[in-house]
Amino acid sequence: MEVTLSDIETQKDMMIILCTTSSFFADNFPPDYKVIKNPYCRKLSEEEVIGLIKEYKPDGIVAGVECLTRNVLESAGNLKVVSRCGVGLDSVDLDAARELNIKIFNTPDVPVKPVAELTVGMIYNLTRRIESLNSNIKKGKWVKQTGGLVSEKTIGIIGCGRIGSHVARLIEPTGSKILGFDPMLNTHPNCKLVSFDQLIESSDVITLHVPLTPETKNLLNSEVLRQTKPGAIIINNSRGELLDEDTLYELLKSGHLAGAGLDVFKSEPYKGPLAQLENTILTPHIGSSAGNSRIEMESSAVNNLVIGLTT
Ligand code: NAD
Repeated sequence: MEVTLSDIETQKDMMIILCTTSSFFADNFPPDYKVIKNPYCRKLSEEEVIGLIKEYKPDGIVAGVECLTRNVLESAGNLKVVSRCGVGLDSVDLDAARELNIKIFNTPDVPVKPVAELTVGMIYNLTRRIESLNSNIKKGKWVKQTGGLVSEKTIGIIGCGRIGSHVARLIEPTGSKILGFDPMLNTHPNCKLVSFDQLIESSDVITLHVPLTPETKNLLNSEVLRQTKPGAIIINNSRGELLDEDTLYELLKSGHLAGAGLDVFKSEPYKGPLAQLENTILTPHIGSSAGNSRIEMESSAVNNLVIGLTT
């Protein structure tokens, strides 16, 4: 049920829910919950979230990737639950939430297949140069290029949790060699675990599936990117801050790297120079939006919100 400010003033006992995600379609809120959707239909700034919180005084927030900083959480006197529609919690100040007794939930399982399938799609596309051949024909150029075979490549997965492991399961039947690096694991059923440096130096494709934390920020920094194999492909469908976009651009332009597939960027919406290169595939942070996944993730975020508000 959607609501106006005057509704709220006359129905003070209702649970007020603010959906700060840029879009939100799930309708499985209990009937007595009043739901306010993001009026801008895009990623909100910190000031915009604070403005909406001051206006509506929500009991719960269904959050996307907008920043829920300490300032934001402290401005929300009634807030009891933040339910993230997604996995990453890097956008939420978890220490502030703990101090303010705000419960935090996320939806870790739903995005696994969509993000892993997007990743594998990018790996095939870039290895076989489908995007670049397609773009040539559309420009009137009939240029034949020989691509690579995924089955002959070494795929390096950094972060072998839910998504990274599913990428490994999808790639394994091709016969590719699969390397993994994950400091929390000693063994993995589908990856040969190696050190970070070994993975960087031996992989033809490097794909990132780690959360954004102070330790992983800029994990693929300039020095690391320069240690990659000539002709390597980089995939980042996790978080933009994990890699140095300037060095990535330089190495793609010089031809040291053969390609990059990115669904996430340091600043979104992305408007930078990687969009001018033929050997990049860029998508607008839609990793989890495929099939029924988006609506399942939204429904799951609502269920978590209700659990948080009622237990
Ligand atoms: P997960 O928690 O299941 O797995 C993350 C793995 O990374 C863990 O196994 C952890 O041990 C490992 N890890 C932590 N620090 C590491 C490091 N320094 N080096 C190597 N490994 C490290 O998480 P997941 O469900 O697989 O999701 C991974 C990330 O994908 C999320 O944190 C999120 O940022 C991103 N994501 C993006 C989208 C999108 O729309 N593009 C959607 C969902 C998730």
